[in-house]
Amino acid sequence: MSAPGLSPAPGTPSTPGAPPTPDTSPAALATCLLCGRRGGHRSVLGGVLWRCGSCAFSWTAADSPPPVELYDESYFQGEGYEDYFLSGPRRFESGRRLRWLLSVARPSSLVEAGSAGGFFVEAARGVGIAAEGVEVSESAARFARERLGVPVRVGCFEVVAPVRSVEAVCAFHVLEHVEEPREFLRAARDALVPGGWLALEVPNIASAAAGRLGHAWPGLQPRYHRWHFSPESLTRLVRECGFRIVRQDTAVFRYYMPARYRWRHLHHLLPADLVGIRSPRLTHPRLGDLLRVVAQLPTSTRRRTS
Ligand SMILES: [Zn+2]
Repeated sequence: MSAPGLSPAPGTPSTPGAPPTPDTSPAALATCLLCGRRGGHRSVLGGVLWRCGSCAFSWTAADSPPPVELYDESYFQGEGYEDYFLSGPRRFESGRRLRWLLSVARPSSLVEAGSAGGFFVEAARGVGIAAEGVEVSESAARFARERLGVPVRVGCFEVVAPVRSVEAVCAFHVLEHVEEPREFLRAARDALVPGGWLALEVPNIASAAAGRLGHAWPGLQPRYHRWHFSPESLTRLVRECGFRIVRQDTAVFRYYMPARYRWRHLHHLLPADLVGIRSPRLTHPRLGDLLRVVAQLPTSTRRRTS
């Protein structure tokens, strides 16, 4: 597995016994998105990621951002369970996400950023929430509108803001793709009413499986994922953008698989989970593959300006 524009691993002595040469490439001198440290970052996973020398936040070592055109039909139409338009698995996944959100909050309106085939919007509307989606892929948005009959607008969430304020913004597997996560969270804040809810899910780079599998961990996806969050880095970023963390946990990949897929993948996923998180449970406070956060804006109407 490789990513475009990889820099050589820093600190590699050119001759045996020589002291490591400091890496002065632009990537090594980059400013950490999370803590602002400039330079002194570590190349990890054979140069696929950079990891901040201060706060350990990780990002993909690529020269240029993945273009929006990358999210075409082939991105959404993977194999089997990965197919974003496959109604059985997607409705199961959406139902689980909705129950998780409703266990914390009771919004009457929401916008889902990166709504893909529209199944979560459909599930939310099914329980009476005025839900709409925003999606960069025109074909995915068309699928949602024409096949599921749900309102989805095409565009980047940061640009295509909701027409009215909503009580919840949801973004499942979006924040790791966006160019500027702080701008994305600012747009979420601007879209929300005071006291509004933010529900996020991203791959967990600090999961037991990520640590054990390295490049082979399915959540890594360096071609698509610019940012690689841990429970610490995600909650810090969300707090710094003006939200209060209400709930945070993780889930293993099996959590979102309907029973027949779970059985099919049982032979390799269950033993891996038993080793990794020492439990057959599908959720864990911090070691599962998928990291979830529900956060809330202050109820005061005073808005932060940064
Ligand atoms: Zn940092």
